[in-house]
Amino acid sequence: IDFRKAKFLISAPDIAHLDQYLPGDIGVEIAFAGRSNAGKSSALNALTEQKSLARTSKTPGRTQLINVFELDADRRLVDLPGYGFAQVPLALKNKWQQALGEYLQKRACLSGVVVLMDIRHPLKDLDMQMIEWAVLSHIPVLALLTKSDKLTQSVKTKTVNEVRKALAEFGDKVQIEPFSSLKGTGKPKVLGILNEWCHP
Ligand code: GDP
Repeated sequence: IDFRKAKFLISAPDIAHLDQYLPGDIGVEIAFAGRSNAGKSSALNALTEQKSLARTSKTPGRTQLINVFELDADRRLVDLPGYGFAQVPLALKNKWQQALGEYLQKRACLSGVVVLMDIRHPLKDLDMQMIEWAVLSHIPVLALLTKSDKLTQSVKTKTVNEVRKALAEFGDKVQIEPFSSLKGTGKPKVLGILNEWCHP
């Protein structure tokens, strides 16, 4: 699959109604999720080699659209809104989490979830929740430790090992990769994993 061919398909206003906006539940979908500011837009742009496929530096906490990008007629990338902003009211947070859980559980074509986490602050509660939901729904997970260029090699190795240990209970259902959109670190490996998910 040539990820550089990704192009904008549709936006959905909120996750509760995502299924009304998405095309039929066939083919392959790969979702990207992460806390706001985790580096999700930058990673999508780096992986597709497009400067502005996904917007960067959005206003924190603002309700964001869910953007769907088409790789080819049968395959899509779904950019889920960033989670974990303190300003978001609890009721909305709960509603959002419920909708997200439903999407993960009900969407049959969902072939993988990339959970992006800033390598300096990995595995927050909502990250763990995302990973657990996906694994429970039998969807493979790629835990992407972003902005890896911000750490020295030794701290990076130490962090990756700690994350591996913390996620060991999930076995091979969760893969862990350090990644830098800035330097391109981890890109070939990540594209390899996404490519496998594209051919279930
Ligand atoms: P999003 O909210 O998850 O979509 O995050 P963005 O992609 O907008 O990135 C948030 C901030 O982190 C921005 O200031 C980016 O420039 C920065 N950032 C993202 N990826 C990297 C990276 O690989 N290395 C460095 N040094 N900064 C990054």
